[in-house]
Amino acid sequence: MTLEAISVGRARAYPPRVTAFTQTFWEGLGRGQWQTTCCEDCGKFTFPPKPVCPHCWSERMAWKPLSHRGSLYSWTRVHAAPKVFVDESPYALCVVDLEIGLRIATRLVERPGKNFQCGMPVELVVLQFDDGPLLGTRPL
Ligand SMILES: [Zn+2]
Repeated sequence: MTLEAISVGRARAYPPRVTAFTQTFWEGLGRGQWQTTCCEDCGKFTFPPKPVCPHCWSERMAWKPLSHRGSLYSWTRVHAAPKVFVDESPYALCVVDLEIGLRIATRLVERPGKNFQCGMPVELVVLQFDDGPLLGTRPL
């Protein structure tokens, strides 16, 4: 499954810090791949990706593709944005419960004709900025 990419047309206001370890995640996301690390000993997923399992301390971690669907746990619209995001406000943020059992926070993307409601089905998308990708969520 490849995430749909939405072109944003500007650089990220607060780009993530990419390390040698997280480079796999960010390069994959740029190609629409949604993946994180999974422990090969206890089978638990972790997000953000980690080189060591926080559940059993195993170092046998593998990159695995994830389901990109889930439900909207909570959301808000930001009007009084931090200085670095002022040019983008107002914008919506959300916490999404993914089918795989992860709960993550992302930008919430408007979809014409859809009002945001807690519990509604959503999917992850790639927000393709000029300098790299970020995760986003939008209603199905
Ligand atoms: Zn483990």
